Amino acid sequence: MSLLVVGSVAFDGIETPHGKVERTLGGAASYFALAASHFTPVRVVGVVGDDFTPKDEAVFRGRKIDLAGLERASGKSFFWAGRYSQNMNERTTLTTELNVFATFKPTLPKTYLDSSFIFLGNIDPTLQRSVLSQVRKKPKVVGLDTMNYWIEGTNAELRETLKHVDILTINDDETRQLTSEHNLMRAAKHIFKMGPTTLIIKRGEHGAIMVHKKFIFSVPAFPLEQVFDPTGAGDSFAGGFMGYLAGAGKVNEQVLRRAMVYGSVMGSFTVERFGVERLAKVTRAEINARAKKFYKLTAFKL
Ligand code: AMP
Repeated sequence: MSLLVVGSVAFDGIETPHGKVERTLGGAASYFALAASHFTPVRVVGVVGDDFTPKDEAVFRGRKIDLAGLERASGKSFFWAGRYSQNMNERTTLTTELNVFATFKPTLPKTYLDSSFIFLGNIDPTLQRSVLSQVRKKPKVVGLDTMNYWIEGTNAELRETLKHVDILTINDDETRQLTSEHNLMRAAKHIFKMGPTTLIIKRGEHGAIMVHKKFIFSVPAFPLEQVFDPTGAGDSFAGGFMGYLAGAGKVNEQVLRRAMVYGSVMGSFTVERFGVERLAKVTRAEINARAKKFYKLTAFKL
């Protein structure tokens, strides 16, 4: 089934203890689409400026990624820059320039209107809601990601958007910030009152935990010897997760659990190189092999 994502398609400046890139293709929707397209066709909604060239677009070609909803505007594309701490557990945002996103009013192409799996990627919650309102019939699943920038700056708008969301994917700090609750299990209960029935807390090198109204499931991060650049890990996780759900076409506990593993698999590939470099090269065979390793990693008898 088709999966629609709205989010940033951006240029990023990234600094990690392993090196520095001044400007590389990034953005939440880019990571998400590349990861999800291994499981299902993806429709992208976003905007880029006239600095986005055919060479930048090339990474999306030859995959099940539809760019009909990626608007071209005059001006500069979204730009974000960040620096990671020595142990890479902390990230400081150095720059967020919304640029063409500041005035973006998404209009979905007709071919997108029947989308039944929707992911409202990390972007202005008003834009997220505007995308949702254009879809013809009630979607099967709506996922949403956000971050401190929007939780602080557009809190009321975010809460309004959350009323229409099934699955919220955020990190532990964002969970605490959104709910003013330190304990994550109690925070999940707060979030259920806001709208979502499932909270997925992304915890970087500690994996991810899914708190559903009826069950809890936890998946580790794949144990890698070296992490080069954590940028986009969360978006790749979300892409693998939502892509797997849409590919399965249905949602039940077993499908949700497997989706968590594929999310973690996709995040683990992304962090092996800078930007989208590794994610853009990963094959389905490598994805399947790593999913099997996850099985071995977590299986035990009682
Ligand atoms: P992640 O590492 O998964 O949190 O995602 C990093 C990506 O999110 C980068 O490629 C950025 O371009 C994008 N990004 C950072 N800040 C924002 C923001 N405020 N709104 C939308 N996208 C953002």
